Amino acid sequence: MADFEDIKKAFRKAVDSDAEVRKIYADLQDLPTYANVMKLANKIGEDLGKVLVKFAPELSVDDLELADILPKALGLDHAQVSAACKEVQEKMNRKAGLGIKYKEPQFNMDKALGLADEIRGITDEDALAQALVERVANFSAGVVDDSIYENAGVLARAGVKTTLIRTAEANCCDWCDEVAGVYDYFEVNDKGNDVWRRHLGCKCEIDIDNGETIGRVNNYKK
Ligand SMILES: [Zn+2]
Repeated sequence: MADFEDIKKAFRKAVDSDAEVRKIYADLQDLPTYANVMKLANKIGEDLGKVLVKFAPELSVDDLELADILPKALGLDHAQVSAACKEVQEKMNRKAGLGIKYKEPQFNMDKALGLADEIRGITDEDALAQALVERVANFSAGVVDDSIYENAGVLARAGVKTTLIRTAEANCCDWCDEVAGVYDYFEVNDKGNDVWRRHLGCKCEIDIDNGETIGRVNNYKK
């Protein structure tokens, strides 16, 4: 039986003592972009995944405990990542002279429970460790994607010309190279669109351009 409070403490400790996380927060001050938040999300997700690996022997993966504790643990990730998204989005809005507030995406419970189901089926210890780190990082990146989706929608519906820029990470995969590009929000506002999809291990970046995006990534491939 794992105790959520212990997981929470271990997660805080892991993130607070992570030098790379500190560096990304400093970078975010200089360059508040979703690309930088994506780096943060991946790192925090990996940290949480590693914490969960340590607690894995105490988690009874075959009963309801996993379905209870995993979403709670992912909630910690969601809160920290969306707080960073809020800062970026509101700075971006202010820079563009827009008094539009950040819209926090809903916690993705379906994805969290899906992750619990996938984890439950893995019996090999190494495979479980790898899956936890990869899948939690993927969940974490999804918080950034959801944040971009929600806030691009808010801007576009408010009449701001809103463009999404998806940049393929070097050597990600052919599929990601294909999806990379520049899209008007209304071209891709269906959540099922490929722009919003992300396979395991994908660290490709998406940015919003509302005409005044700061430090926008411009090395995208078309
Ligand atoms: Zn990718």
